[in-house]
Amino acid sequence: MRRPLVAGNWKMNGSLSSVRDLLVAIKANITQVSRAEIVVCPPAIFLPETQSLLQDSPISWGGQDLSIYDSGAYTGEISGPMFQDFGCKYIIVGHSERRTYHKESNALVAEKFAAAVKFGLIPIFCVGETLEQRESGATEDIVAQQVDAVVEHGSISLLGQGVIAYEPVWAIGTGRTATPDQAQDVHNFIRQRIANYSQDVAQSVRILYGGSMKPGNAGELLAKADIDGGLIGGASLNAADFLAIGMAAN
Ligand code: PEP
Repeated sequence: MRRPLVAGNWKMNGSLSSVRDLLVAIKANITQVSRAEIVVCPPAIFLPETQSLLQDSPISWGGQDLSIYDSGAYTGEISGPMFQDFGCKYIIVGHSERRTYHKESNALVAEKFAAAVKFGLIPIFCVGETLEQRESGATEDIVAQQVDAVVEHGSISLLGQGVIAYEPVWAIGTGRTATPDQAQDVHNFIRQRIANYSQDVAQSVRILYGGSMKPGNAGELLAKADIDGGLIGGASLNAADFLAIGMAAN
């Protein structure tokens, strides 16, 4: 049985005081979420505060990106061991904003996935197609290439150590959500693709949906057989909305 996971990607939002307020509000009501695992991924600079506020809670936390190196002359980068020092359990890799704005390739994302696992972090590995790719019928090819890159770089057991997030790029931050059937079709495709390598990994790996998930649409999406949770952007900045999605995953 796959435990549902609801992760908040706070992106480059917040201040020390607003991050504190948000963490305190989530923590105060976390008992409403009985089954799903709840994770927050604030900007890295707020991880010390996050660790000190959440360390005695059932909420996990993580980073939004990591370096493929463990240390060295890589200005501005943050390594896996540094995230570990601040108690991170998860790390987002391959978010479409990094693929687009930082030109991260499938090969680099696969390296980041492996670096995360090497340093004891669980990658939340984002895949998904652009609107143009969907409209030209390329969704499955694109997602297959993204998934296969991790297997080719490492192995199927490496892939099995992460969590996958299917995030259609056209649904991120746009208010336009994939229908539950559209999302389920791609989730099912991803699971079948993984099953070609390993039935065990296909059955155990969690596949989250991300893209304008909100309290109003979370229930229908999360009811689908292959949707094991959500990666939430905008709605994760509001404690009540984020927890409502967590409850929908119960
Ligand atoms: C995201 O950035 O991963 C995301 C899903 O954002 P939003 O929920 O705002 O669409």
